[in-house]
Amino acid sequence: MSRYIGSVCKQCRTEREKLFLKGQRCVTNCTLDRKRGKNAPGQHGAKKGKMSDYGKHLREKQKARRVFGLSEQQFKRYFIVAEKMPGLTGDNLLRLLELRLDNAVFKLGFASSRKMARQMVMHGNITVNGKKTDVPRYQVAVGDVISVKDKYKTNVNLVKLLEKPASVPGWLEFDKNAISGKVKSEPAPEEFSHPINSQLIVELYSK
Ligand code: SF4
Repeated sequence: MSRYIGSVCKQCRTEREKLFLKGQRCVTNCTLDRKRGKNAPGQHGAKKGKMSDYGKHLREKQKARRVFGLSEQQFKRYFIVAEKMPGLTGDNLLRLLELRLDNAVFKLGFASSRKMARQMVMHGNITVNGKKTDVPRYQVAVGDVISVKDKYKTNVNLVKLLEKPASVPGWLEFDKNAISGKVKSEPAPEEFSHPINSQLIVELYSK
């Protein structure tokens, strides 16, 4: 399955919006804060004109896909699942994405970006309810306890990150002493990570 390996900042430039794909560096040293960085990538990036209706729908889907670092097929699979669930498909879609284990690890502040969180999970440094879980797409559920494995608790990057704890969303509960977190509830739409108009994504896939 193909994964984007180019410049991550280019993805933000394409969307003309900060997607916060590089953790702390996005706050202190963001390409989009510089004049040239505001243009879309490419030779004619500065001249890109008005977006078509289809373009707006497509960009919203691409934005969501990029925020969560998913391939086209992976994202489409989430949409198919969301469609079958009761309630609003757009909200279901974003909720499923929020409840991915790598996202929960990132939101708890154990990693500075989702990419780093995915690596932590894949390298077997995360447990869910005491069991090693190395699948980033694992869906956490209410009541699950997400912890860092003992051997990783002294990792310099983690220790540094925990010196300045991230602002943890209301659906998660962070325990600094145990370096663990609990899923208190499913995330409400107002707690979703990034402002994404999920209705545009639903309309795009319904065309
Ligand atoms: Fe996007 Fe972060 Fe790069 Fe800024 S620094 S363009 S927010 S990935």
